[in-house]
Amino acid sequence: MFKSAASIEKLANRLARLPGIGRKSATRLAFHILKLSREDAFELADSIREVKDKVGFCSICNNISESDPCRICSDPQRKQDVICVVEETSDAAAMDKVEEFDGLFHILGGCLSPLDGIGPDDLKIMGLITRLKKGVTEVIIATNPNVEGEATAVYLAGLIRPLGIKVTRIARGLPVGSDLEYADSATLTRAMEGRQEY
Ligand code: ZN
Repeated sequence: MFKSAASIEKLANRLARLPGIGRKSATRLAFHILKLSREDAFELADSIREVKDKVGFCSICNNISESDPCRICSDPQRKQDVICVVEETSDAAAMDKVEEFDGLFHILGGCLSPLDGIGPDDLKIMGLITRLKKGVTEVIIATNPNVEGEATAVYLAGLIRPLGIKVTRIARGLPVGSDLEYADSATLTRAMEGRQEY
C-alpha cells in the first residue's frame, strides 16, 4: 500500500513540473493514469519515449523535425532565397499555411526579453546570419505583434540591413499583443502580402 502510494506521489510530482499543470491537476492526472488499462498507460509512456527518441531539431532552421534537414529545408521546390523568421515552431506551422509564401523558415526559439533575461545570445541568431551568406535576398520578420516581438524585429533588421539584404516586417493587420500561432490563415496571408520594408 505504502509502495503504490509513493509511486503515485512520484508520478504526480513529475506531472506537476509540466507547464500549466498545478498540484491539484497533477494529482488528478496521476490517479487517472492509474485507472487506465495497462495497454493505454504503456502507450502513453511509449509516445513520450518516441518523441524523445525520434524528434530533434533541424540543424539549418531549428524547426522540430524527425529528419535533419527538415522537410522544408530539403524541399528544392521552395524559394531558397527568402527566409521568414519566426519565434517558435508553432509560428512556422501557422505561416506555412500562407499559400503565397513558399520560402524557407528560421526559428529563433523565442524573442528578446530583457525582463526574463533573454538576450541575443539565447536565440538562434548566429545561425540565421550564417544562412544569409548563401544568396538570401529577403528576410521576412514575422515575430509576434507584441512589445518583445517588435523589439526583436528592430534588433534583427539592424543586424541584417547592413549586409545589403532586403528586410521586411509582416503588416500590422494582426491585433497587437496577439499570437501568430492563433491567427487564421486569411489574416496571416494579408499580413504577409502587406509586409513593409525596414
Ligand atoms: Zn529546416
